[in-house]
Parts: sequence; structure tokens; C-alpha cells
Amino acid sequence: MIIGVPKESFPGERRVALVPASIPALLKAKCEVVVEAGAGLDAGYTDAAYAEKGAKLVPTRAEVFSAADVVLQVLCHGANDRTGREDLPLMRPGQVLIGFLRPLGSPQTVQEIAARGASAFAVELMPRITRSQNMDALSAMATVCGYKAVLIAADMLPRFFPMLTTAAGTITPARVLVLGGGVAGLQAIATARRLGAVASAYDVRPAVKEQVQSLGGRFVELPLETGQSEDARGYARPQDETFLLRQRELLTRVIAESDVVISTATVPGKRAPLLITSDMVARMAPGSVIIDLAAERGGNCELTRLNEVVREHRVAIVGYFNLASTVPYHASQMYSRNVTAFLLSLLKDGKLNIDLEDEVTRGTLVARDGNVVHPLLAQAQPAGAAGAVKIP
Ligand code: NAD
Repeated sequence: MIIGVPKESFPGERRVALVPASIPALLKAKCEVVVEAGAGLDAGYTDAAYAEKGAKLVPTRAEVFSAADVVLQVLCHGANDRTGREDLPLMRPGQVLIGFLRPLGSPQTVQEIAARGASAFAVELMPRITRSQNMDALSAMATVCGYKAVLIAADMLPRFFPMLTTAAGTITPARVLVLGGGVAGLQAIATARRLGAVASAYDVRPAVKEQVQSLGGRFVELPLETGQSEDARGYARPQDETFLLRQRELLTRVIAESDVVISTATVPGKRAPLLITSDMVARMAPGSVIIDLAAERGGNCELTRLNEVVREHRVAIVGYFNLASTVPYHASQMYSRNVTAFLLSLLKDGKLNIDLEDEVTRGTLVARDGNVVHPLLAQAQPAGAAGAVKIP
């Protein structure tokens, strides 16, 4: 079986789906690996490094698609809403795609892939069970985003992060507040703590409290009823507008006392909850920084603009998306380990074995041999229904 790795084509994307270190395991499983020349260069992986591990380099994207039984990508058509469509004519019946597909946000792109006769696995739908932890690309990329968000905030803040005792006096540490203590939020707390900031976090899920505290952060408790805030998969449930209004009232003071807010709050399949209004931003000290990691999903802050830095009330509100691509070496390494583990789990005697009894296979398979097969896609909204908001 031939595994193909094209260069990522989304503008500015620097990651690559497979790094050289993952190749030996695939060769051992009786696969061959074909990589587009230059695919790993922006992430720091040379063609020579791929060749040394046993990959065959081919000069064009079309040659990768034509040779491959399985195509590994980071952003496939759907998740890549700029150039992903150009891959459609390259796909063929029986071929399998593995990567981010944003199937719930753009179900019609899954239909287009199915119409080519191809099968597709959407890695963002990976069930979050113990067995698939090493295949969980969403968590891996969220880890990168949480880390990078703190570095951007530290760079933009006109203050030190750590407490310093110097001949010029004592410097008080920065106060970093994280809204949403999921994977990205917890990594943001850990990173802010490593830089010496005082970190605190808030989440609607009470289970987050212990995780925040174990990282040396303070958990912000609000007098709000959050008993039903977590669903069976461990995700937050959507809250109604009355809850969110009260939440914003209670958060106003906490946010005003923070130098940095990293907001990561999202709810699967929905627009991100609005946690920070323009009035709340106005109460922050001049020079404060908000990094809105939920920007792509509509943003947690009212003032966020996707991929821009907005400066209002002397506060910078950063709406960058795709931060994982800005740490491409390690983001690619983590992603590569995720998809390799997933692919190996699908192989039996060197052949692809699509077993729908398997929770991981069933949970991620969105198209099979010309048909859209995932039950969640039947409920998905068509793209555009949520405006510019992207929902994985
Ligand atoms: P996510 O990106 O969907 O959301 C980020 C955080 O925002 C979540 O913690 C959520 O509770 C929070 N949030 C939502 N609405 C909010 C609101 N109104 N106010 C404040 N916070 C709000 O979450 P995620 O990072 O993908 O992780 C979701 C859960 O899955 C976590 O419990 C995580 O630990 C768990 N998880 C489990 C596994 C596994 O067991 N294999 C792997 C990864 C994540």
C-alpha cells in the first residue's frame, strides 16, 4: 500500500502531515511512502531526511495523488477552504484521505470528496477515549496553540511576565487569565506559569478546577449553576443567553484585574460563546492583551476580528488563527505521530481494514466509496449558515 504526502497548500501553512521519523514504522507495516518534494521544508524537514528514511520523493502534487492509496494531509479540502478544492480532480475512486476536513462546518465538501469515489477520515472527529489518545490531533494542535498564545501575549504586553527583584526595585508579575480550561487552556496556564506569571483560569466544567490547580494556577469560581455543563464526551454543553449574560457580569471584575486574557472557550458544533464585551475590554488596564483562540469559531470577545490585531480602549485583541502552523516543526511531529498511529490501527497485513465495529474507525470515517457515512453529518448545518464562523 502506498501512503502519499503532498505539500500543504493552504496559504501560509507550514506544517507537513508526516515527518521522516514516522516512516520506518510504515515501511515495517509493508507500506511504501511517497512524498512531494519540498513538502517538509517549511517545517524543517528536508527532502534528504525523507529519502534517508526510505521515502520516494516525487516532484508534483499530482504524482503524489496518482500514486497514493492513502493520502495524508494536515488540511484537506473542507478544512482548507482556499485551495483544497483544487485537490478534487486529483482524487480517485478507492483512494483514502486522512486529515482535518472540517466535516461539520462544511458538510458539502465531504459530499464532493465522496462524489469522487474516495473515502475520508476526519481526524477532528477522533473519539476521545483512552485507546485513541495518541491519535488525537485536535488535542496535539490545541497544545501548540495554547503555548503559542502565551508567547504572543508576552511579546505584546508592555510588562514583564515574571516577578523580578532588581536593584531598580521589585517588578510585580503579570496576571494571566485563561477562559476555557480545555487542552489549549491548560497548556496556556502551564506556559504562563513557566514564564513566571500569576495564572488563573475559569471554565464552566467543574472538573477543570483540579487540573488548573495541579498546574499551579488558581481556579476562578463564579456563583453560577454549572451542574449540567459537561456532556458524556467531556465537552462543554451550550449555555443559554441568560447564563452567558450572568457569566459576563461576574467575569467583568476578574477580566479588569488581568493583564492578559487567553480565551479558548468553545462548544462542539456551535458558535463560540461570547464571554468578553467591548465594555468589559474598556475596563482593562491600558496595554492589556487578549488572545482570542476561539476567533475562528466566532470569537469569545465581541471585538475580535479573524486574523487581525484590533486595538480598542488601548487593549490589543488578537484574533490569529492557525497558530499551530507557527510552530511547524513540533506541530508536524505531533500530528505525524497522531496520523501514523491512526493509520497503523487501520492496517491489517499491509492492507486497509475498515472495520465499522471499531469505535475509532466509525467515529472518524465521514465518506466511504462514494457515500457520506457519518451520522453527525446528517445533522450538520450547511457552510455559510453560521456566517464567517468556522465549525470543525
Ligand atoms: P474545547 O476546545 O471544546 O473547549 C475549550 C474549553 O472551553 C472547554 O474546557 C470548555 O468546557 C470551555 N467552555 C465552553 N463554554 C464555556 C463557557 N461559556 N465559559 C467558560 N468555558 C467554556 O475543549 P477541548 O480542549 O477540546 O477539551 C474538551 C474536554 O475533552 C476536556 O475535558 C479535555 O480534558 C477532554 N479531553 C479528553 C481526551 C481523552 O480522554 N482522550 C483528550 C482530549 C481532551
